[in-house]
Amino acid sequence: PYERMQKIREQNIAPSLKTYYKRPLLLHQGHMQWLFDHEGRRYLDLLAGIVTVSVGHCHPKVTMATQKQLARLWHTTNIYMHPAIHEYAEKLTSLFPDPLKVVYLTNSGSEANDLAMFMARLHTRNFDIICLRGGYHGGSPYALGLTSLTSYKHGVANGFGCTTTMLPDVFRGPWGGSHCRDSPVQTVRKCSCTEGACLAKDQYIEQFKDTLNTSVPKTVAGFIAEPIQGVNGAVQYPRNFLKEAYQLIRERGGLCISDEVQTGFGRTGSHFWGFQTHGVVPDIVTLAKGIGNGFPMAGVVTTKEIASSLAQNLHFNTFGGNPLACVAGAAVLEAIEEDDLQKNSEDVGTYMLLELAKLRDKFEIVGDVRGKGLMIGVEMVTDKDSRRPLPAEEISQIWEDCKDMGVLIGRGGLYSQTFRIKPPMCITKRDVDFAVEVFRTALQRHVN
Ligand code: PMP
Repeated sequence: PYERMQKIREQNIAPSLKTYYKRPLLLHQGHMQWLFDHEGRRYLDLLAGIVTVSVGHCHPKVTMATQKQLARLWHTTNIYMHPAIHEYAEKLTSLFPDPLKVVYLTNSGSEANDLAMFMARLHTRNFDIICLRGGYHGGSPYALGLTSLTSYKHGVANGFGCTTTMLPDVFRGPWGGSHCRDSPVQTVRKCSCTEGACLAKDQYIEQFKDTLNTSVPKTVAGFIAEPIQGVNGAVQYPRNFLKEAYQLIRERGGLCISDEVQTGFGRTGSHFWGFQTHGVVPDIVTLAKGIGNGFPMAGVVTTKEIASSLAQNLHFNTFGGNPLACVAGAAVLEAIEEDDLQKNSEDVGTYMLLELAKLRDKFEIVGDVRGKGLMIGVEMVTDKDSRRPLPAEEISQIWEDCKDMGVLIGRGGLYSQTFRIKPPMCITKRDVDFAVEVFRTALQRHVN
């Protein structure tokens, strides 16, 4: 059957995203943090379907809730009311600070970001949206304009119908210093910053102001940023950067959008939402991925006032807020609470970051370990002085070795040079010990 699947893939499935691994995995089953292939081999899943299986594969609570709803009512469209959307909207918005109390449910993160841009423009009557280099906000034509990672644009898709300004990426250079970023792991190199007065941050703010002054009109519609850049490889901003950025944007009449597609739902451990770790309250928040534990759903949360900008403008999608999605979403929220998964993200994530930092100290090719909670990046370099990305074939060898030893890891960053570790939040310290040991073995083999 494996060969048959491969043939169908070649002949009948559009070749967009390249499958991972030389011999792609054929997965048949999942249970919490584990995946099983067609031969029954077990893998520890450290990528969670790209940060989506938040509470665990086939989590019994989510499975039972959706099964029950499947037998009752699947779909109505929002021209009618059904209980599930009301119960879910109340539950979800109760997790946000005032005045973020209104939700619009969509089907994907890209669609949520499209809508966030649309709302920002309708509300402010301005046009420009500012985003950061290294950010990923989706693959739809609108959201692609916000996505700076060039590999997704193919030279033709630099944003349809939108003006976006990408700000320069100065975080990549110094990797931040011990006070620069909000992570339990310090960088190897000491940065000359002192808390609250970080050089990297000041440089960035200066460039941010310069760009706003020179290439952006005096008024803007909005600013969008991920609290930690996910696809870019868990890249973190210097402390207080977002706070100052929000202030600059608001001075120009713009709304601040937090893309919580990867950082939401307790993943960063210390807080339920990534923006809370930066001490800011956005005007619009976009959600997807972990919201449904793999059930396709997403949403935009905002204020009543901003949401009312849609009231006079017909905006519609067929599937958003369908009963199945809403019960899946509600069960995810209950599972996070009952299984104490936010705290687990913090405890197990911190443990893993510290264990990985030991490997960074031991191996020259492990350039940086960063992140927060269970949103972790491990950047591979030729050496810590030059910080050049380790050649792709070498990274791939280590990554394939980890897979062969039963651990699935993601890849990210401009050169695919950063391992991305974002497992289901139910992972345990014992799993971490196993994964770190596998990673150590793969690194050691590479060095030998
Ligand atoms: N925002 C971020 C931060 C993402 O990581 C992604 C997906 N990788 C998206 C938006 C787009 O979400 P979707 O693929 O569901 O459209």
